[in-house]
Amino acid sequence: MTANLFDILQSGITDAQAAAIETPKGERISYADLIARTGRMANALVSLGVAPGDRVAAQVEKSVEAIILYLAAVRAGAVFLPLNTGYTPAEIDYFIGDATPAVFVCDPARADALKDAADRAGAKIVTLDAGGQGSLTDAAADASPDFATVPREADDLAALLYTSGTTGRSKGAMLTHGNLVSNTDALREAWRYTADDVLIHALPIFHTHGLFVATNVTLFSGASMIFLPKFDPDRILGLMDRATVLMGVPTFYVRLLQDDRLDRDRTAHMRLFISGSAPLLAETHREWQARTGHAILERYGMTETNMNASNPYDGDRIAGTVGMPLPGVDIIVTDPETGAELPRDQIGMIEVRGPNVFKGYWQMPEKTAAELRENGFFITGDLGKFDERGYLHIVGRGKDLIITGGYNVYPKEIESEIDALPGVVESAVIGLPHHDFGEGVTAVVVPAAPDALSEADVLAALDGRLAKFKQPKRVVFVDELPRNTMGKVQKNLLRDRFGNLYA
Ligand code: AMP
Repeated sequence: MTANLFDILQSGITDAQAAAIETPKGERISYADLIARTGRMANALVSLGVAPGDRVAAQVEKSVEAIILYLAAVRAGAVFLPLNTGYTPAEIDYFIGDATPAVFVCDPARADALKDAADRAGAKIVTLDAGGQGSLTDAAADASPDFATVPREADDLAALLYTSGTTGRSKGAMLTHGNLVSNTDALREAWRYTADDVLIHALPIFHTHGLFVATNVTLFSGASMIFLPKFDPDRILGLMDRATVLMGVPTFYVRLLQDDRLDRDRTAHMRLFISGSAPLLAETHREWQARTGHAILERYGMTETNMNASNPYDGDRIAGTVGMPLPGVDIIVTDPETGAELPRDQIGMIEVRGPNVFKGYWQMPEKTAAELRENGFFITGDLGKFDERGYLHIVGRGKDLIITGGYNVYPKEIESEIDALPGVVESAVIGLPHHDFGEGVTAVVVPAAPDALSEADVLAALDGRLAKFKQPKRVVFVDELPRNTMGKVQKNLLRDRFGNLYA
């Protein structure tokens, strides 16, 4: 056996007839089927000219075939490059121009629009639709299921995932077989995953969360996953009596809480609810526990590092924290200026080291050198602190830090105060250009009802609770916060929208 993640996955299978994937349409794909279908797909990729080390890019809807494509690419020794289905042709042009894949897989409906970009990148274009049909599936259907998995070293690339990058061009994070396998092992241990688990898989598969965390953890455990095309509260609630695990972004939990059917009975068969990719509001955590009796387990990770920290399986899962470092992962908090390690309770830059940390940014040696230290620590860009019990708290992205009149203000602290006010659904605190202070602390608030509260109400409630310099200079109201597909609040859009507030 080699370090190819597919080899390791395959060698761990003990019951080849067990279901690996089920779909709402009643399809049942056993582990034996999965091996055979990835073999056919790997042969199809090779016949399209894919050689070990080549990139295989895919902008496709979620389907069983799309997961088979990921595994087949890895099996063929290629580097899988999933692309957000929301990207426009101009964005795709950049990604495939940068990554120069040998093959680019897209939806048949977009093939004409993307053909030129594929040609420019030197990629052969093939198709796969949401139902799993297309020229790629046709090629795989004619191919043999027998395929000798290409040997790989732990340090060889398995995937290239572009960061969502709200400023500047997104960067391709190079993830190795060793990164993915070690993180899968750490998560299986941390979350007590076994072959008896049944995951409700409702996440997109172009992102580390749905592709690696959800899929690898399940398949490496010999467990099964029920593959939903997208987040669908009805279906999720309907599956809870036979599933054991749900992995979601915080929005999943907020939306499920809006459904009266969610209660203790409905969730009695479930073992674990996991949240990540964006901060889970402490209030959501508490409400979920009150309604279902389950404490949501929040974890923290990113494209470049896979998963870093998790609340404990046994022990307190503390709302508003992301828990402790995963087995094998080192996390330190450092002074952003000097890089010196800070003691507990002091806020600084979160740095991560371990077998989970990526190899660097694709063709960007300077960016890699700027963020990945020689001693192996990756500078995450997230600010946070460890508390006295050793739980990590994230206070926001470094670029969201507000500097007002020379003082640092961490948005999370202000947001937590505002979120706790009656009549507030949620808030985002941002810094906006201010003639006097450099940046003015500004609260963007989603009220429970249009007249639930006024700017003066919010300001009066915060007065006395927060130091003067932390108090917002202005409060603006919006119907909802802009979020990306992974549930992250897009503060850059808010900064653009309200940029002239103090002008
Ligand atoms: P991505 O690379 O798209 O997975 O985004 C990674 C970023 O999401 C991290 O650097 C954090 O800023 C944020 N993130 C992920 N998980 C959490 C969490 N549990 N709480 C707060 N922020 C999170």
